[in-house]
Amino acid sequence: MGAWEDLKGMVSVCDKCELSRTRTNTVFGEGNPDAEIMFVGEAPGKDEDAKGRPFVGAAGKLLDKMIEGIGLARADVFIGNIIKCRPPENRDPRD
Ligand code: SF4
Repeated sequence: MGAWEDLKGMVSVCDKCELSRTRTNTVFGEGNPDAEIMFVGEAPGKDEDAKGRPFVGAAGKLLDKMIEGIGLARADVFIGNIIKCRPPENRDPRD
């Protein structure tokens, strides 16, 4: 298993902060790990928490259109969030 898969595994079971108690799924991010472009959101929302995937709600549809607009597809870039678990009620992340 490579370092990337190791990291994914660590995130999937992470309990280093209080968000581990309220999340449904961790959201590691997806796309091309070797991409030249990475889109970084703040934190998973309700839809992302439910599906374990980044940017799958309304904002995700807009992001998909923006990526297509620059001649790329989701698989060409990497999409993730600074934090990997949804804050309750989408509050701002804490330090
Ligand atoms: S937000 Fe980050 S540190 Fe907190 S439980 Fe999730 S993966 Fe771990």
